[in-house]
Amino acid sequence: MAKRMQSASSIKTYKQCPRKYYYQYIQRLPTQPSIHLVRGSITHKVLEGFFEINPDQLDQTNYSRQLKETVQTLLIKYWKESARLLSALDLSDNDKIKYFEETMLMLLKWADDFVSKLGKLSGSIAERFQSLTPIREAHYRSDILSVQGFIDAIQHENGEVRLMDYKTSNTFDIEEHKLQLAIYSMLYFERHKRLPDKVGIYFLKMGEQWINCDPELVEMARKEVEEIHKKTINDHVDFYPKSPGPLCKFSTGKCDFYETCKPFQQEIKLMFENDRKELKEEVLAN
Ligand code: SF4
Repeated sequence: MAKRMQSASSIKTYKQCPRKYYYQYIQRLPTQPSIHLVRGSITHKVLEGFFEINPDQLDQTNYSRQLKETVQTLLIKYWKESARLLSALDLSDNDKIKYFEETMLMLLKWADDFVSKLGKLSGSIAERFQSLTPIREAHYRSDILSVQGFIDAIQHENGEVRLMDYKTSNTFDIEEHKLQLAIYSMLYFERHKRLPDKVGIYFLKMGEQWINCDPELVEMARKEVEEIHKKTINDHVDFYPKSPGPLCKFSTGKCDFYETCKPFQQEIKLMFENDRKELKEEVLAN
């Protein structure tokens, strides 16, 4: 069987729970939308659209206000366009407002950071804006390695190449995303025959974090990708064991495949069997 096309998300899913991988990537069962997914997609669109403005229209003295207004306008536009998806989430009105405001604050903080970077450069405001404009949503695919990814932003600054991914999560630990960044580095290397200098995450709630890219990082990605190919060569459900744990059910939700999977059924069955056995022993003893 040919290797499956993998991605950082599919590998992460397999590592969390092979059965979850099976339901999502082999059976292709539908997944539930969540506010975090919808909000993530809106935020990415805003950051993509931001760089499509005409920088010649930026005013040398007023650009900070103009750029922040651009972010606000884009967020309102994409939030409205996602109204159908958002209403399917069954959020209370208060929650809808809370998430909208939180997203606005994250994006304005990002815009502040961008304005401050612009302020450190020289030249006209249009030239500075262009020099900070990344390549966006770049699709990289390797048919040799059977892996692909969309790189949110590729920045070329002072002769350096940096690959960046945006995250709206509450965590601020780049280590959690090291595999994803390693895969991007590997894909970049295969296409351009050079490593990026740095790979990083822009945590929209906190700021950016970088790690240096080196051959070791690429080697780690290569090994992980090879490993997943070996483990997913078969289509049969028995090759994908369940990994019951905190990701099955948690205080604010449950795994998308909880009802299909019934992760604790075996334990519940055993518990009842043991109860029945104990009861029978008690009856016989009396
Ligand atoms: S419910 Fe738990 S065991 Fe089942 S697929 Fe989801 S994470 Fe895996």
